[in-house]
Amino acid sequence: MTTKIKDINPYEMAVKQLEEVAKFINLKSSVLEYLKHPKRELIVSIPVRMDDGSVKVFTGYRVQHNFALGPTKGGFRYHPNVNLDEVRALAMWMTWKCAVMDLPYGGAKGGVAVDPNKLSLSELERLTRRYAFELIPIIGPEKDIPAPDVNTNPQTMAWFMDTYSMAVGYTSPGVVTGKPIEVGGSKGRVEATGKGVIFVLTELLSKLQKDIKNMRIAIQGFGNVGSNAALEAYRLGAKIVAVSDVSTALYDPNGLNIEELITFINTSPGKQLINYPHYSKITNKELMELDDIDVLIPAALEGVITEDNADYIKADIIIEGANGPTTPEAEKILLSKNKIVVPDILANAGGVTVSYFEWVQDLQSFFWEEEEVNKKLKKLITRAFEKVWTYANEHNVSLRLAAYAYAVSKVAKALELRGIFP
Ligand code: GLU
Repeated sequence: MTTKIKDINPYEMAVKQLEEVAKFINLKSSVLEYLKHPKRELIVSIPVRMDDGSVKVFTGYRVQHNFALGPTKGGFRYHPNVNLDEVRALAMWMTWKCAVMDLPYGGAKGGVAVDPNKLSLSELERLTRRYAFELIPIIGPEKDIPAPDVNTNPQTMAWFMDTYSMAVGYTSPGVVTGKPIEVGGSKGRVEATGKGVIFVLTELLSKLQKDIKNMRIAIQGFGNVGSNAALEAYRLGAKIVAVSDVSTALYDPNGLNIEELITFINTSPGKQLINYPHYSKITNKELMELDDIDVLIPAALEGVITEDNADYIKADIIIEGANGPTTPEAEKILLSKNKIVVPDILANAGGVTVSYFEWVQDLQSFFWEEEEVNKKLKKLITRAFEKVWTYANEHNVSLRLAAYAYAVSKVAKALELRGIFP
């Protein structure tokens, strides 16, 4: 995305958010100290034989933040800017996300510093397989379960599962989630994060006595999360007036036809919005600052709403489809202008929730219909939203502080019960 994230260290941002909630819930300083530090970090070199015979070496990461509540869970991404502090922050956010959703997991995240668009399909497969192989000592259905994230998808997960299975000598579908349905994936997993974003939005709107049909929405990012959120909201009758990807943003005050756009993206060779022949092209910055929208959904990368642009955001509601899109300083500005920010750990938790369903189905070798998946997803998201909304209103705090207060207290309680080894 166009907003530069060079000055923002996501891990510092995550620690700042944790410190703020620690103060609010009077968390013991020893527990705070414990939670600031990831439990385990692995950095690996991934040599890949390229199609032309040369060898390139990429750096891969896996950080397991905390496993007080269960095995660790979280996706892995392919992006040139991946670095240890980013993965640490994303792992910590997964701990809170799983806790706020009451999933029996701790948090983890992984990534490889690579631009996947510069690799052929077979190079990507070799990269994925070597990365998976390097992680074997620390992953497994009972240890740490990866999943898709930015620029990784069901095919990536199938390679990952196969590599792990080859190494252990039997097929182990539960080692990773977000797989294709044919190899143990769950119905509804691909759409789950985007759907969850819109479930959260509709819950919020019902509290505000508003109807999604009257909402004008802009979505930054048109990958798995952005496109599925757009589609869900579009089908519910909302007007999606703008969407963007790395190439451009498309804008039409009368609303975009999301079904046509998705068909275009899925069938066009470049898969970029800039090649779409209709609608006005605006910049990502203009999209964020549109004045004719009610809802802004950042659904790409972290650190896109900062103190530099927070003042210019006109939407009253910000739903964090991405992880960590709003810096703590920017959130203060938004809250001072009475905007409602639904935090990432709640807003985008639909993905990991259906990942949990997938893992449960894999462990039981018993698979559910899509209807059942979606019903259960809606139930868990609604339950979590209610909890956070009520806490925020009772304590007169932001939805983020409320979600964090619940999640951090829950992890702290588990730590206290388990005690510190030895
Ligand atoms: N990468 C997604 C997230 O940030 C999904 C993680 C998962 O399914 O484990 O929540």
